[in-house]
Amino acid sequence: MPYLKKSKIAPKVSYRPEQNLCPFCQNILKRDHILWRKYLIFSTGPQVVTTWAYRCSAVGCPGAKTDYHSAKAEKLHLRKHRFSRELIVRMTLLKKQHINNRRTQSAA
Ligand SMILES: [Zn+2]
Repeated sequence: MPYLKKSKIAPKVSYRPEQNLCPFCQNILKRDHILWRKYLIFSTGPQVVTTWAYRCSAVGCPGAKTDYHSAKAEKLHLRKHRFSRELIVRMTLLKKQHINNRRTQSAA
């Protein structure tokens, strides 16, 4: 059986910035480079998330060196963590609920 990387099995999702136009010159932003690509584990399963950086391609635009990226994609993950933000919050809530249940059981 051939070796399959986890990233080849998981569905791929890519994000682009929410804005289409340069705030300085109103030119259409163009795809420039990958900002980050990460294998993230969600409560629904793993996904390979890619965030693209877009830049203004107009010559002489003051915002030509600025990277524009998706704010929605940044909310998905925590830095240096493989688990998604949503999964970490869910696990924390379950852990607190479990501790509270044990406290009420021991008090009764
Ligand atoms: Zn521009």
